[in-house]
Amino acid sequence: MSDKVAVVTGANKGIGYGIVKELCRRGVGTVYLTARDVDRGRQAVEKLKREGLKPEFHQLDVTVPISVEKFANHLKQKHGGFDILINNAAIIQKTITKTIYEEAKNVIEVNYRSLFIIEKYMFPILKQNARVINVSSDLGHISNLKNSYWVNRLTKVDVEVQDIDDFVDWFLSSVKNGTLKEEDFAVTAYLSYRMSKVAVCALTRVQCRKIDRNIAINSLHPGFVKTDMTQNNGFMTVDQSCKTPVYLALDCDQSLKGKFIWYDKSENDWT
Ligand code: NDP
Repeated sequence: MSDKVAVVTGANKGIGYGIVKELCRRGVGTVYLTARDVDRGRQAVEKLKREGLKPEFHQLDVTVPISVEKFANHLKQKHGGFDILINNAAIIQKTITKTIYEEAKNVIEVNYRSLFIIEKYMFPILKQNARVINVSSDLGHISNLKNSYWVNRLTKVDVEVQDIDDFVDWFLSSVKNGTLKEEDFAVTAYLSYRMSKVAVCALTRVQCRKIDRNIAINSLHPGFVKTDMTQNNGFMTVDQSCKTPVYLALDCDQSLKGKFIWYDKSENDWT
């Protein structure tokens, strides 16, 4: 049993739940199963306890600053910080082929903007040599975007948060004003989700470049996995999909940083 402390967001079901299970099985000292809904979170913890595992529960809605701040204070007081952060929580829009502004805004809020709330409250208490995994998607590969102006801005080596925020603002205002052009994107199905995950991958590169304490930050495509998000479609089970995030959290070399990792543990060239 290690003395490490791990946190998984959006872990009451799906891949997040599976990652908590695998981290517990691997003997990580304290694993926090977090969920925005207390009942769903506690039920998930009870389910794992029935399997002989001992995750801790804490409420965490990644879009609510006070929720993130309270959890960060708890981690600091109880453990003096933490070692592993899996940013897994996400949503996908219900309308597949049409991009609707309210849905797009929500998807961007949960999948992309929440990472800044997490960064503000949780990064300062990450310990030396900590690891952060931003769960993205193959739909977040830069090839999903065809507009060369934005591709160039997002893939430059010195990309900044401002570039990504400008891109997201451009996307949302295009949706709002009805000026979205199909030719700017490879595929328009699940477009808001795609663009939110493109932003997550770009942000991972910025975060990795800027953070100190030898902290490794990578983004990940977990594979096409049978969960509620995919309406149980996919070629992988949840248990199979957790191997690579857990590898990034526990097993890979600390020098692996700022990469876009595929579900088979290979490095994918995001740019
Ligand atoms: P699920 O929809 O099964 O689970 C998503 C989890 O995120 C749920 O626990 C949900 O909680 C939680 N969540 C949503 N919003 C918030 C919030 N504001 N605060 C905290 N938690 C929240 O999805 P998956 O398990 O399939 O996906 C996990 C990750 O993997 C996501 O980042 C997804 O984008 C990514 N991914 C998944 C793929 C797949 O094939 N399944 C493919 C590529 C990427 P609640 O139950 O309360 O809604």
